[in-house]
Amino acid sequence: PRARPSMDLKALCMYAAVPALLLLCSASTFIQSPTDVYGPVALHEPTPSSARDFGAVVFGAPFAIMRPESAADVALLLAALSSAPTRPRATVAAHGAGHSLQGQAQARGGIVLETRSLPRAVAVVVADGDGEGGENTARAYADVGAGALWVEVLEECLKAGLAPLSWTDYLYLTVGGTLSNAGISGQAFKHGPQISNVLQLQVVTGNGEVVTCSPTESPDLFFAVLGGLGQFGIITRARILLQHAPPKVRWVRAFYDSFETFTKDQEFLISIPEQVDYVEGFMVLNEHSIASSSIAFPAPISFNPDFGSHGKRKVYYCIEFAVHDFQEDDGSSVDHVVELVSGEMSYVRPHVYSAEVSYFDFLNRVRMEEESLRRQGLWDVPHPWLNMFVPRHGIARLKDLLVDTVLAGHFDGAILVYPLLSDKWDRNTSAVVPSTPDGVMYIFSVLRSADPSRCGPGCVEEILEQHRRVADEACRVGGGIGAKQYLARQPSQAHWRDHFGSSWDRFVARKARFDPARVLGPGQGIFPSTD
Ligand code: FAD
Repeated sequence: PRARPSMDLKALCMYAAVPALLLLCSASTFIQSPTDVYGPVALHEPTPSSARDFGAVVFGAPFAIMRPESAADVALLLAALSSAPTRPRATVAAHGAGHSLQGQAQARGGIVLETRSLPRAVAVVVADGDGEGGENTARAYADVGAGALWVEVLEECLKAGLAPLSWTDYLYLTVGGTLSNAGISGQAFKHGPQISNVLQLQVVTGNGEVVTCSPTESPDLFFAVLGGLGQFGIITRARILLQHAPPKVRWVRAFYDSFETFTKDQEFLISIPEQVDYVEGFMVLNEHSIASSSIAFPAPISFNPDFGSHGKRKVYYCIEFAVHDFQEDDGSSVDHVVELVSGEMSYVRPHVYSAEVSYFDFLNRVRMEEESLRRQGLWDVPHPWLNMFVPRHGIARLKDLLVDTVLAGHFDGAILVYPLLSDKWDRNTSAVVPSTPDGVMYIFSVLRSADPSRCGPGCVEEILEQHRRVADEACRVGGGIGAKQYLARQPSQAHWRDHFGSSWDRFVARKARFDPARVLGPGQGIFPSTD
């Protein structure tokens, strides 16, 4: 049965910023009984989680939250709000798992729409029914509710021996949330980001229209919404491409003391996608941090490299790659592949380590890190993160810039660095990546936990300011590194214009077409209501 709203109807109808709800409240068709009134727009009192996110640096309480049970519920709300005659209109932010960093899933004074309440069933379909065709059985897909977590999608797909091709490192994010950004991990060099692996979407546009779209059916909406930062519609369902899932994965780590050699070997690995299934890498700011569980292999594997730096501060780099193991027995052919591949690499010998883990455990590896951070009290603290896509020619400069600034002092967190291939990104989507003359770009992710009780009062603001300066320098148009930020909320519309560059006009045109009343996605700050 539909949840009864805890909010008083009168309060709802008096809320001047929600004129559309006024309309709903006064429309005689809806006021047959209290249940009818509440039915179309069941709103609830805000919860603490609707006013915060994982970043914990922006807090904006909404007026109300909505827990839709269907696309039709979402459509009713958006149709009413977008057609309301008066301004300012109430805004609506989709809120998936709330793992945004700077309030992107918040709607200060508006309505937060919790997508987790949408149906989350995962339907796995193997269209040709034979299950043959090796790893890339392109005919298998999963129809999933947009509020499903990727870990839920994985669990269901594995029951059929299948899995999506492209992942995020962390699986407790919703399908709608990552598809609104891009969704990247170590498989993206091979399969592209998650937004390159979607066959179809169901979307409720800002106008309240429910549309099924794909590359061939309403393609403009399909591509707008992918990487669209929640600006054009609410994704309610997604059809995700699947492949055969390996039972196990051989997971390898090799260490470097030279950034140049590290990136050269990463580029070697992404040049052999037929042998390698996953490539990432991270910076090791000091030798001691290697043994910490956040980057340790799962127990009981012994993993304690000693580089003999004897307490001196020296930066190391670690490549992480993985090979899927389809063999049910002892997996000797995978061992052979790993041996051949690592034989071509120039890591600091003998520092290569490997572990065989189940595919599920491999994909879910950041859960281990979450548990570790929770134990250290570093999960529910501010996370001033900085994520940037960097063209290959700028990576050494950006690394030096980071080492001289953000990484110079005390640092709690991880710094991921790994290459991606820009031709795996569909330029029709709304996602922004840099131009890369040679097709190779890197993601630099500075994933920091900043507990003011450890880093000092005001440290979060200082770190954010430092990130702003680094991002301005790295993303500067003309003479800069040519980087583009990922997952960031830009501080002004002028910054957004620079961020989108030549695709800004298209982004604005998409907004005018799919959400002309500018109801959606206020937390991104792209289209301020005063503008
Ligand atoms: P939310 O924070 O709830 O929403 C994010 C944005 O999408 C908001 O603008 C929201 O309005 C919009 N949105 C949400 N759902 C919908 C929908 N159904 N329709 C339309 N718009 C919607 N990203 C990567 O690419 N790779 C990673 O490896 C990775 N690892 C991460 C690890 C951690 C611990 C965290 C906190 C984040 C990580 N991210 C990663 C970033 C993550 O992909 C984004 O923050 C993503 O938006 C989180 O999904 P969510 O469900 O929490 O979205």
